[in-house]
Amino acid sequence: MLRRSVFAGIAILSVASAVLIAQKKDEGRNAPNTGYSDTPVIPKQTWKVHDIARPAPPMVTPGAKPGDPPSDAIVLFDGKDLSKWQGSSKGKLGDPKWTVKDGYMYAEKGSGDLVSKESFGDAQYHVEWASPVVIDGASQWRGNSGFIIQKRYEIQVLDSWNNPTYADGQAASIYGQWPPMVNVSRKPGEWQYYDIAWEAPRFEGGKMVKPPFVTVFHNGVLVHHHQELIGQMAHRAVRPFEEHPYEQPLALQDHDTRTRFRNIWVRKLKGYDTK
Ligand code: MG
Repeated sequence: MLRRSVFAGIAILSVASAVLIAQKKDEGRNAPNTGYSDTPVIPKQTWKVHDIARPAPPMVTPGAKPGDPPSDAIVLFDGKDLSKWQGSSKGKLGDPKWTVKDGYMYAEKGSGDLVSKESFGDAQYHVEWASPVVIDGASQWRGNSGFIIQKRYEIQVLDSWNNPTYADGQAASIYGQWPPMVNVSRKPGEWQYYDIAWEAPRFEGGKMVKPPFVTVFHNGVLVHHHQELIGQMAHRAVRPFEEHPYEQPLALQDHDTRTRFRNIWVRKLKGYDTK
């Protein structure tokens, strides 16, 4: 009898301790824990592993559909007007002369380039473009335009669907420097897009201390992977870097073709651990 009650007691105690352990486990799962302060410092950083003091990244709401601007983007063209742009003709800034129609824009002959009113340093860009439906001209005359970062560094816009030309001047090339790793061009008239990550050059005391680097996706495919530039954009020449402020405007090239543009946005990149 005594033995039976001892067994019953042990059984009750075991159930009770199992419940306690389960409760503790549950408390652990739900207990707030935003990091540690007794962990080693991460090499090449000032933060510790899981650092309790490390700031949380700022919240950004993504676009509803792929390609839509996220909440921290500066929209440069939403298909409605040229309010974010100036015109540039023979080096002079003035009113933008491009035509806005049906949610896109294009240059008429002699319109001049477009230059954004705002300037950018390190940045993420998105741009959509379409070459003219009717093929007019060959090689560099087929739908030529340009996405000219910081007014100096051109990611080529060209109809490169069955259009032989020099490799470092085809669509998505870093003009005059690097061809894209692959040709991801769509047919004339079809909408295409670039997603670009730009690391701006840094100058100190008249000297460049860090060259620019670019990463480019053409229609979602990686065509430049953190590629270093060798100088400024030039035709039939190697043009060295020239000192310029960290932030510079974006330009769209008028090259006497009716290449259309839409949905252009940019995000200023501030780096890690910034508010
Ligand atoms: Mg061009």
